[in-house]
Amino acid sequence: MLGFPAPYPEELLYSTIARAGVHDGETSPKQLLDMVFNNRGVIATVDLPSHVGKLASQYSDSLGLDTQTLISRHTLWPIYAPFIPQERNNKLREWMSGSSQGAAHLASGIAASRVKAKTKLFICVECLNEQKFKYGECFWNRLWQVPLLKICPAHGLLNMTSIELNGEHRHSHIPVEVAEIQEPVKSEDVDRTFSNQVAQLLKVQNEGVSFSQWTSFYKHFASSWGYLHGRRIDHAKIQEAVIQFWGKRWLSNAGIHPSGKETSWLREIFRKHRKSFSFAEHIVALSALSNGVVGISDAIEKASSMETSSKKPHHAQLQASVTENQLNQDQINWQQLLELSPPKAARQQNQALYARLYRNHYDWLMQINSVYHAENITVNKRVDWPQRDRQVARELRRAYQNLCEDLSAPHLSKTFLIHQLKQRATVEKNLHRLPRCSTLLAIYSENTAEYQARRLTRTHFLMLEQGREIKRWSLLREAGLSDERMTDIVAELLKEILSEQA
Ligand SMILES: [Zn+2]
Repeated sequence: MLGFPAPYPEELLYSTIARAGVHDGETSPKQLLDMVFNNRGVIATVDLPSHVGKLASQYSDSLGLDTQTLISRHTLWPIYAPFIPQERNNKLREWMSGSSQGAAHLASGIAASRVKAKTKLFICVECLNEQKFKYGECFWNRLWQVPLLKICPAHGLLNMTSIELNGEHRHSHIPVEVAEIQEPVKSEDVDRTFSNQVAQLLKVQNEGVSFSQWTSFYKHFASSWGYLHGRRIDHAKIQEAVIQFWGKRWLSNAGIHPSGKETSWLREIFRKHRKSFSFAEHIVALSALSNGVVGISDAIEKASSMETSSKKPHHAQLQASVTENQLNQDQINWQQLLELSPPKAARQQNQALYARLYRNHYDWLMQINSVYHAENITVNKRVDWPQRDRQVARELRRAYQNLCEDLSAPHLSKTFLIHQLKQRATVEKNLHRLPRCSTLLAIYSENTAEYQARRLTRTHFLMLEQGREIKRWSLLREAGLSDERMTDIVAELLKEILSEQA
């Protein structure tokens, strides 16, 4: 078709097709399909449309709008791609560029996912105003249509529209101007976190991460955020952290409240991956365990580099690959020896064991020895622990001073504070050698009530400084608190603050 419009930034292809119809004065959906695709049977698809190759061929090369660019910038492909293996991803793209017949939804995992697609189209009213001002017309932004997403990161609550997907509109690409705007959705504090993570995810260009890479990543992740019990994943603690962070209601509404059973997705994501998990499940686990510190894009980047460093594997990675392959008794014994002594001393203690492993598991032996050897060098450097204690304590004090002034700082848990330090791994492992630091950590780390109280007080001061009227709802909203989750002490504090005003 002549003069087919180019998509605006973040515009869905669905929307570009709809605008093409408006520009051309084409009112019949079937004729529009005929004009664009030479095919009246094409289904109007919001998330993972097919026939993208046909659309790409409408543009001249100079625009740089090839099939892959259209898929990665103008569909919801980025929220699925990093979580499925590369092969499946290639298939998915193939289907999207040609004719898919629903195969794309199978390949992406959407069909089997606990997280359901939105059944209506959504908008952000403020964004629409901005679009009108900037471009003279409006379009459907892809972010608004992401499952579970309720907030526009720039403006706030989304509104539902009258446009239902599937059903009678199966073959129509409906322009946003035609939509009747309905009531805004209801949201909770954590919806903002979710929304920021999704916005980040849409920018990631990733070709797929393998199951074994995700497996290694989550083992490493659980270990570095303190969710191991000995050498095992502490599933109970993880479950608690997830519910504490997201709240039961949010998780249930999203369809991913972890059951606590052996087969729950939250347990499975920390085990060997055999199937893919949805973007929402990844976001939920990552944010909760790291207290909002680890972003989804960092996680994808780390996970996709997981196996490439196989020459000199990271300790946790080696651990992961080793446990996967089931160690024999000799290997287990050797590992236990290494926990106590460096490789050389271990060999002297049990030469027969060493010899057996040397014959039967040479590669494994060399790998594990190199890891423990390296660790022991740093330990044997005769660290002056009292001096290290003073130095780290100073760093901790500085980090805390910056953080406690920062209203938007996340929950200052012990783990979070340690992770602000340059030598966090050393500190984490040797806390018993650092008495000053341990004491400071005990003083500085906040429980939930303290965390909420900090937010409340800071917001209160800020509003006073700005000479604003203190209203209960605005105070709560700006402090990011809600009645349901407020602890009793904080509720008391809030009453006091408000009674001072009166
Ligand atoms: Zn907006």
